[in-house]
Amino acid sequence: MQAVLTENKDVYQQALENFDLAANALGLEEDIRAMIKYPERELTVSVPVRMDNGHIRHFRGYRVQHNTTRGPAKGGIRYHPAVTREEVAALATWMTWKCAVVNIPFGGGKGGVACNPKELTMGELERLTRRYASGILPLIGPTQDIPAPDVYTNPQIMAWIMDTYSMTKGYTIPGVVTGKPLTLGGSLGRGEATGRGVYFTVDSAAEHLRIPLRGAKVVVQGFGNAGSVAAHLLDSAQSYVVAVSDTRGCIYNRDGLDIPKLILHKERTGTVLGFPGSETISAADLLALECDVLIPAALENTIDGANAGMVKARIVAEAANGPVTPEADRILESRGVFLIPDILCNAGGVTVSYFEWVQDEQHLFWEAQDVYGRLERVMKTAFNDVLKVHRERGVGMRVAANMVGIGRVAEAVRLRGLYP
Ligand code: NAD
Repeated sequence: MQAVLTENKDVYQQALENFDLAANALGLEEDIRAMIKYPERELTVSVPVRMDNGHIRHFRGYRVQHNTTRGPAKGGIRYHPAVTREEVAALATWMTWKCAVVNIPFGGGKGGVACNPKELTMGELERLTRRYASGILPLIGPTQDIPAPDVYTNPQIMAWIMDTYSMTKGYTIPGVVTGKPLTLGGSLGRGEATGRGVYFTVDSAAEHLRIPLRGAKVVVQGFGNAGSVAAHLLDSAQSYVVAVSDTRGCIYNRDGLDIPKLILHKERTGTVLGFPGSETISAADLLALECDVLIPAALENTIDGANAGMVKARIVAEAANGPVTPEADRILESRGVFLIPDILCNAGGVTVSYFEWVQDEQHLFWEAQDVYGRLERVMKTAFNDVLKVHRERGVGMRVAANMVGIGRVAEAVRLRGLYP
């Protein structure tokens, strides 16, 4: 357990280090840094749950609001054994800059419960979710803080949170969470929004580098929600997705994997392993494959100082949050790898969450094509805003994205001033 805690402390340090790099490049005043660097609110809740065997088990939950200057806090809820307050604080910090990079009127928040949802029954998961939701109830609300799914949480869990919140208020409030089922006020296109956003930024990066997507070789680490959708769209654009992985292992086919069939295989068997026509390779071999695009879409810190030197991709597209450590960043940059940083690359999810919230508030729902078209415009505008800073200021893409995000939050803080 200690190792996990240390690793997660590193993630928060990483968030602070990235802030400092961008703040220095912006020449940000110390007063503004003091106002926006640290989380506004952090809540730790005890989550006692009656298990199916009749005994009560204790879990620990968190909700962190990093910054709400530009609007309500926005960010997912993660159920994972390695969740810690530091990890949640890091993810909340990234959400602030991410919402600002895509210029949507939200601040940053994040939540999590340290648990292994794979070991819980549906009944236990529902009781855990409702108890956690009542614990964080004072912080959340459609104008205050709006949770969404993250790793190992899903639309059903959002429905339970929405119901718990609505029951305590006495009427139905769909806008308290996003990523809900469609029948409860969810948005068309939300489920695949992150992967679709990843695809739009990869498309923009490939165009910038003059790499045709047709025929490009793609490797995806983490074939979950974000990774599989990005793989599917790239496959549709006639790229070759040659290797993918999940927690159980990695598979490879030099001629490209049949992604629609692989998605069905993963649904049926729970893993990518054993897919007909593929061979199993190691995680290290997957990262070292010659390819045009590498998409880390699993968890934090999967590309670090030890393995970054093996990466042969021309573009690394961070579908996951924080998959590349600061040391690995320096190595990739020195090797001329073009990075699409997480707060830009995976911002499609929060962007369509924003669309969902707008639709809930207006009680007026959009067609899928409206969602896709608006998402493409937002993602491509954000990509160009970041690319402009990257080129004009001669900084790496991560620093450039942080400069855009932090710069927008700083501007809002300057205009609002310090209360009282
Ligand atoms: P998910 O649970 O659907 O998928 C994660 C996948 O990664 C799973 O297939 C899992 O087996 C695999 N995985 C986990 N550890 C791995 C490892 N060490 N090596 C290889 N594979 C591994 O989760 P998701 O929603 O796709 O989220 C993935 C990442 O994307 C997370 O970092 C998350 O914060 C980020 N993200 C997701 C969204 C979203 O809307 N889903 C939005 C923004 C960012």
